[in-house]
Amino acid sequence: MTQRDANILIIGAGPVGLAAALELSRRGFQPRIVDKDEDFTPAEQSRALGVNNRTLQLLTPSGVADDLLAEGHMVKRLRIVNEKGRAVILSDFQNADAFHPFMLIVPQGRTERLLAQALKARGVEVEWNTEMTGANDDPKNPAVTLAGPKGEETVSPDMLIGADGPGSATRKAFGFSFEGEGYPAEFGLADVELDEDFDASEVVFRFSADGALGRIPMGGRTVRYVSPRPDISKALPPGVKVKAVIWRSNFRISFRHVRTMRNGAVFLAGDAAHVHSPVGARGMNLGIEDACWLAWLIEQGRAERYSALRLPSVNKVIAQTKHQTDILLRMNMFERFIRDHMANALIKLAPFKRAALSRLTGLDSKDPPWLARNA
Ligand SMILES: Cc1cc2nc3c(=O)[nH]c(=O)nc-3n(C[C@H](O)[C@H](O)[C@H](O)COP(=O)(O)OP(=O)(O)OC[C@H]3O[C@@H](n4cnc5c(N)ncnc54)[C@H](O)[C@@H]3O)c2cc1C
Repeated sequence: MTQRDANILIIGAGPVGLAAALELSRRGFQPRIVDKDEDFTPAEQSRALGVNNRTLQLLTPSGVADDLLAEGHMVKRLRIVNEKGRAVILSDFQNADAFHPFMLIVPQGRTERLLAQALKARGVEVEWNTEMTGANDDPKNPAVTLAGPKGEETVSPDMLIGADGPGSATRKAFGFSFEGEGYPAEFGLADVELDEDFDASEVVFRFSADGALGRIPMGGRTVRYVSPRPDISKALPPGVKVKAVIWRSNFRISFRHVRTMRNGAVFLAGDAAHVHSPVGARGMNLGIEDACWLAWLIEQGRAERYSALRLPSVNKVIAQTKHQTDILLRMNMFERFIRDHMANALIKLAPFKRAALSRLTGLDSKDPPWLARNA
């Protein structure tokens, strides 16, 4: 058997499983990808919106970056406004040492469809309604039960990739730990069409005496409001003109990750391996990065290096997002003083500016060795 004959099974066709399948097929493999759902995430019920520079770089060789750029909305600045209505932090992507001076906004459901379209063009299609329901608990020689439209089958792949999200059956079946903590706060989210003009090139985060509210432009007059208050309607600015509510949802956050992302021939990627808060738009992007690194390492015959290469980035993003979330939820008087009187000055200093923008662009992780820095 040559390396490319390897029989690879991917559990989960979210953005991460699809990216893994696409990158493997681009490198000459023919992976099998299954998902228990009947279709992609509905575009109007998308969790992830922000596609960062790193993801655009990684998806350039497959052509998906161009597809995303063709339909995405560009966010050029992040503005943070304090309780008194004063802008206290302004981060402008124009100042980033990046491939694109913006964060691209594309609903996760669209990103999934674009990845799957490129995958289909390479002859691989998602097998929907097909759930991994059991496993043999032998990570060196994994065997899993798949229940699909034609009944049950047992599959023994050479490599098994669990990209099956935060509740990962793969992770549970093959003995990976998943340690960390959950936060009690429940967040509210609403995607709405506004009936008023606003600056669609800025994400605005506004603190108020009784909470905080983020507004992310999604293109046209559609925006996402997000707040650490479960009833988002109570957090909306007074007098805001909402024409239509497209989607409302609530979510909780936790910070957890596996100790190793590989056990024998079983690999975990994306939310199956790590979860954290959506602050900074990192989750899907980090998972797509896992997928691309794993495909490269499999091609190189060095898949055993996967966990050691990915865990430093995972740990960094979890620490950063936890710190940023704590600032949002638990800022004390001293931190508020720093934010209001020093943050904007600090962020203009080159090292702070670079650090903030490299996090927002996702370019704070190791450069992919198979791509030139300016690919
Ligand atoms: C409010 C919110 C906003 C967010 N915004 C951003 C953002 O702007 N940018 C960003 O990068 N991230 C963001 N995220 C995080 C992002 O949504 C996740 O990191 C991303 O969905 C992870 O993708 P995944 O493919 O790993 O998992 P998922 O998207 O959860 O996909 C897992 C797939 O596996 C399938 N599956 C599960 N179990 C099985 C099984 N046993 N058998 C077969 N199939 C199975 C599921 O049906 C699903 O399709 C946000 C999250 C939230 C909650």
